[in-house]
Parts: sequence; C-alpha cells; structure tokens
Amino acid sequence: MTAASLSRVLNTDDISLTLVESDEIGIIGVGEATIPDMLQFNLQLGIVEAELMRATQATFKLGIEFQDWSRKGSRYFHPFGFHGVDIDGVDFHHYWLRCSANGHAHAIGDYCLTEIAARKNRFGFPDMSIAGAPASYLRYAYHFDATLYAGFLRRFAEARGVTRVEGKVCEVQRHPESGDLTGVRLANGPVIAGDFFFDCTGFRSLLLNSFGVPWIDWRHWLPCDRALAVASRRDDPPRPYTRSIAKAAGWQWNIPTRQRTGNGHIYSSEFMSEDEATSVLVDGLEGEALGSPRLIRFSTGHRQQFWQKNCVAIGLSAGFLEPLESTSLYLIRQGITRFLSLFPGASQSPVLREEYNRSMQKDFEQVRDLLVLHYFANERDEPFWKHCRSMVIPETLQRRLALFSEGGRFPRAEGELFPNASWVAVMLGQNVIPRTPEPIIAAMPISQIEMKLELLRRAMNQFADGLPSHEGVLEDYCRTDSSHQVAGMSR
Ligand SMILES: Cc1cc2nc3c(=O)[nH]c(=O)nc-3n(C[C@H](O)[C@H](O)[C@H](O)COP(=O)(O)OP(=O)(O)OC[C@H]3O[C@@H](n4cnc5c(N)ncnc54)[C@H](O)[C@@H]3O)c2cc1C
Repeated sequence: MTAASLSRVLNTDDISLTLVESDEIGIIGVGEATIPDMLQFNLQLGIVEAELMRATQATFKLGIEFQDWSRKGSRYFHPFGFHGVDIDGVDFHHYWLRCSANGHAHAIGDYCLTEIAARKNRFGFPDMSIAGAPASYLRYAYHFDATLYAGFLRRFAEARGVTRVEGKVCEVQRHPESGDLTGVRLANGPVIAGDFFFDCTGFRSLLLNSFGVPWIDWRHWLPCDRALAVASRRDDPPRPYTRSIAKAAGWQWNIPTRQRTGNGHIYSSEFMSEDEATSVLVDGLEGEALGSPRLIRFSTGHRQQFWQKNCVAIGLSAGFLEPLESTSLYLIRQGITRFLSLFPGASQSPVLREEYNRSMQKDFEQVRDLLVLHYFANERDEPFWKHCRSMVIPETLQRRLALFSEGGRFPRAEGELFPNASWVAVMLGQNVIPRTPEPIIAAMPISQIEMKLELLRRAMNQFADGLPSHEGVLEDYCRTDSSHQVAGMSR
C-alpha cells in the first residue's frame, strides 16, 4: 500500500522508489476484511474497483455481525452506514431509545438499510445523486484475499516506476553523526542506499528497532495475544458481511471471499492453551478446513514514535490493534495520507515528525477505545470475560461511556474514524443502555414518534427487497470490464 501510494504521488524524475521484499519471509497474509475507507484509497490511486475485486477474489462487506458478545445467545450488527435518519436535527437513536423504553419491539438495526440488506443477502451501491434517498444511506467495504491484494498492489507500484528488489535485510546502516538511516544491507551482498525510509517490515519492525524506539503496550486493555488462522471450503453464496463470534477466551472471525471463507480464532494465551484454541477454531468452522491452522503471536500497542529521524513505520511495524473492527489497513492508509500531507522534502524539521506522531497516536487511541468497549461491556461468565469486565479502561472511553449512559450523547473528537452510528451499534449491542431519554424527545407524543419509525422501517425494507442479491452483483460486476468507480464515501 505504501509503495503503491508513493508511486502514484511521487512519480517524478527527482525521486526514485525502491521496494525491498523477501520472498523467503513473505507477508503475514491475513487482513481480509476492510472498512469503507478502503474505497477512498482506491479512488486516490485510481484503481478500477471491478479490476481489484476480480484480482483479489473480493466480496462486498456491509458490516460485522457480533454473536455471543455481550452474553451467550446475543447478536447485533455493526453496520456501515446509519440507523434511520436524523429527524429535526436530532440523532435517530434518541427516537428509537424513547420507543424502546416504551416497549417497542423492533431492534435499532431494523432501521438501518445496510443491515437490512445484509440480512437479506442483498447488495446495492450507494447513490448520492438524490440527497436523502434510501440509496444515499448505503455504504460498503470489501473482503478479499490479502495475499492477492499485496500482489495486485505490487504490480500497480512496479508499473509506476517502483523498483522491486528481492532480498533479506541483514543490516541497517546509520550515519555516525546525524544518526539518520543511510541504507540497508541485503544478505546477498548489495546495500540499498536512500534518503528516506519506510519501515514496512511487519512485526519485526527492523528499521525502528535500530533506533531503539520503545513499544507502548496495551495488553492490559486488549488481552488477546494469539491468532490461529485457517481457510475453509464454502459451498453457499458468500454473505455480504463479516461474522465475529465471541468464545470462552476471545473470538472467532468468519470472512467470506469469493471462493472460500477465511477463519481465525483470536484468544488470550493466559486463559487458553493452543490445543484448546485450535479445537475451538475447528469446531466453529462452517466448512472443511483447507489446511492446518497457522499460529500468529502478537502484542497489542504501538511504537512510541511512528516517525523517527528519516524513517516512518507503516503497518504492523508501527503498531497493532487486533482485527475486531478490521482497522489495520485503515491505519496504514492514515499513515500514508498523514505522511504525504506533511511531506518533508529536503527539510527534516522535527515539527513535521511531532505532528505526525501526535496524530497517529490519536488515530490508534480512537480505534483502541472502540475495541476495548467490546471486551469491557460484557455479561459473560468465563474467567477471561470476568477479567475484561474488571479492567480499568482508558479515561477517554470512561468519559464516552458516562456520556452515553447518561442520555445517549457522544463527545466528538476531530477526525474520528467511527461515526456515532458505529458507537450506537456497539454500545446498544453490548447492552449499554442510556439511563435517561433525550429531553427534547421525551417531551414528544410517543404515538407520533412510533408512526414515523414504522413508516421508515417499511420504506427501508421495501427498498432492500428491491436490491439484487449479493452473489448476483458479484457475478455481474466482476465478470465485465465495468469501470464503475467508487460511489460511496462515509458521511
Ligand atoms: C491475525 C490477524 C488478522 C488480521 N486481520 C485483519 C483484517 O481483517 N483487516 C485488516 O485491515 N487488517 C488485518 N490484520 C492486519 C494486516 O494483516 C496488516 O496490517 C497488513 O497485512 C500489513 O502488514 P505489513 O505489511 O505491515 O506486514 P507483513 O505482511 O508482515 O509484511 C512485511 C514485509 O516485510 C518484509 N520483510 C520483513 N523482514 C524483512 C527482511 N529482513 N528483509 C526484507 N524484507 C523483510 C516481508 O517480506 C514482507 O514483505 C490482521 C493481522 C493479524 C495478525
């Protein structure tokens, strides 16, 4: 992603880009679920969506279904898009909360077009041409094969002048006085020199480690530290959504790409052995496993500095937040976008570095808080879940929970990834219910509100019924050389 973006933006005679990769080491090869931000990435690079989808075995993703998270048997959906429509400037969820407190039977997801479409296995592209029309509320992202995606972007970068060098970095060279990186030596001999370096070496973080940049550990908030991943056969049509099923000491993902399903069990090694975790994963597969589960060890957190001297770490080398909300590729794009907006040129001003490091830390913290909420707000009985319930959560999340519990309100921070609708979905899904209704709504006649909601629910269902099947859209869209460009952006 980094080489592809730079090749697009810095494609000038003065700058040459070299990508060093080791086939022997390979890539991590997981990272199959994305969020709508990915559409922006394609747009910026000028990637034709249908081409990308064909090359990566992609399906469309409308959100994530969470099963057994707040307690066993519970189920909720974190949709892309919105619940209902805001009425008279008041967020929809306040109207729903009022009705719900009055014994109203429909879940908030029954008013969300993307969620309704997902449940019906249907799909539609957003259409912004008529403001307020149902299609303007649709949003989507992709599920794809991460290895095919890396290959697709490599070809994209090479076609735009990036030189790819195959080899294993065995030494990182620094200037004796300035401390700047000057080059990397490959095991087969050559030194690749450069003025600026991107550390995209994954969990190894080879370049940042050469500076001894400390690691900020968040395991006390996100205790899972292992993943077991395996693909499985699938005969049914792919669902247009990810599934996340809570387990005794973690959770399992189910991500449908065109021809198979990606599965993984994320768990805490303090609460479960590898053998047990493997059984949980295999028992939870919907089809025959295509190979043996692969173990991946990880720590949750980030580097204290993402940009140090003349080196920026992007991807797993910068930090890792587990894939519960499919946010890692988003954080990569953030890293690239923020770097380009602060592009240093010949200047190596520390002001640019400081701004980059401050804003990336914020991005990581905002994602972290939503992940921690999933673990903290639970009513399950197992020791792992009791442990999660008893942790002292980040102060930023404490404030957010207090404000929501008081009247369904949210603090808004600048440049936040997740819209209120995401927080509403997870708060309510995890059974965090505001104690008091919004005062303006509380004063309205309930019959009027109920009537508005019912009209909306019917209209959305009717619209969703008219959408084509997810599988049908995939067949049509990916078969042709359609040049359909990205249509839907987050609001
Ligand atoms: C279990 C799990 C599930 C995930 N699921 C998702 C998801 O659903 N959605 C999402 O957005 N993200 C997900 N991620 C994160 C996602 O996989 C990564 O953010 C993404 O793949 C980028 O990885 P990377 O390029 O930083 O590292 P890697 O893929 O590890 O790439 C590192 C690169 O550096 C090279 N390299 C390393 N050392 C050397 C060396 N010495 N010499 C030369 N080259 C070297 C390697 O060859 C490779 O090309 C998941 C991660 C994990 C662990």
